Amino acid sequence: MMKTIPFVAVAAALLSAPCLAQNPGPERLAEVEIRAERVGDGLHVLYGFGGNIAVSLGEQGGLIVDSQFPELVPKIRAAIRELGGDEINFGINTHWHYDHADGNQRFGPEGVWFISQTDSRERMSVDKFIDPLTRPAFDQPAYPPAALPIVTFDNRMQLHFNGERIDLLHFGPAHTAGDAAVFFRGHNAVHMGDIFTPGGYPYVDSNSGGDLDGMIAFCRAVLAELDEDAIVIPGHGAISTYADLVRFTEMLQSVRDRIAELIAAGASLEQIIAAEPTAAWDDIYGGDKVRFIDRAYSTLSR
Ligand SMILES: [Zn+2]
Repeated sequence: MMKTIPFVAVAAALLSAPCLAQNPGPERLAEVEIRAERVGDGLHVLYGFGGNIAVSLGEQGGLIVDSQFPELVPKIRAAIRELGGDEINFGINTHWHYDHADGNQRFGPEGVWFISQTDSRERMSVDKFIDPLTRPAFDQPAYPPAALPIVTFDNRMQLHFNGERIDLLHFGPAHTAGDAAVFFRGHNAVHMGDIFTPGGYPYVDSNSGGDLDGMIAFCRAVLAELDEDAIVIPGHGAISTYADLVRFTEMLQSVRDRIAELIAAGASLEQIIAAEPTAAWDDIYGGDKVRFIDRAYSTLSR
């Protein structure tokens, strides 16, 4: 069925589902253009299709955060060359979802050394099932060994690369069970993967260890690591600010509290959806509120 839908319609549907961009197939990926935006000297964000890619370029080489899709890798490399880069030495996966990690299947065999949180590597190595609720569920097959991260960490690790310290921090289950926030300390910037999606309500992947309370705690822990001038790179959507992340965290807390109240009062999922617990935030985050409420309910009621 997807094959008969024009690309524009697919892209529009995916924009309304900002944290799970399903692979639209090689023909449509052939139409995708990679756009670069500068964060600071030697740090850029690439927008293509799937999760935002952060790129560190400098004297020691190149490092990317997230890898989008294998079909896009030549275009991603071309965009990096236009920015003055060449070789990519390291890749970090913020988590295992295909729209952030499928590109490993090409970058890995080409010699990029990937790093991820331990749980994310484990999930990349086995067949998985993702249920986005509002569209058909689908499989993410196990990656071949060459696509898997070579280095893993549990809670924190540091890279010292291109003249700055890069901190990888994990604060427990959030969007998935294996999220990493990547701090570029020399740029006062962080890539948060899909824990932060300022263009829409987040997807809590509760089928594979994601957790709403954990997502709130993760956001607060990231904020505690930052100052108010920090640049926050989301998993999907435009480069954002500390204030944007504060507001997103307030939204998560407020919707969480309302849903927990309704659960305590004995409301069913249908009754909770009808009670519109996101109403105060829909003008800002819009999009897939039923999916957000459903996943929030599933983690708060277990
Ligand atoms: Zn994701």
